[in-house]
Amino acid sequence: MNEQQIFNAVAAENSAVPTLLCGHCHSTLSRAKIFRTEGGELPNVNCQTIGYCSADDCGAVNCCDEAMSAFENSEQLLGLAS
Ligand SMILES: [Zn+2]
Repeated sequence: MNEQQIFNAVAAENSAVPTLLCGHCHSTLSRAKIFRTEGGELPNVNCQTIGYCSADDCGAVNCCDEAMSAFENSEQLLGLAS
């Protein structure tokens, strides 16, 4: 009974650095809140990259796959050191 609605993140336009916006409230998704799924976190979601909105009254889970495909350096967005 814990059905979670997933929104599609939106790629911000006219931004100097790759930026994703929450598909629900259009707040900027913090890089720290964007994760690659290893499989299992969200079993019913077919999404490789998810972003959690940090807006107080939103908290939406965003699928970032589609939006990230708009960026050439999507790894940069993730800020992964590996
Ligand atoms: Zn949001």
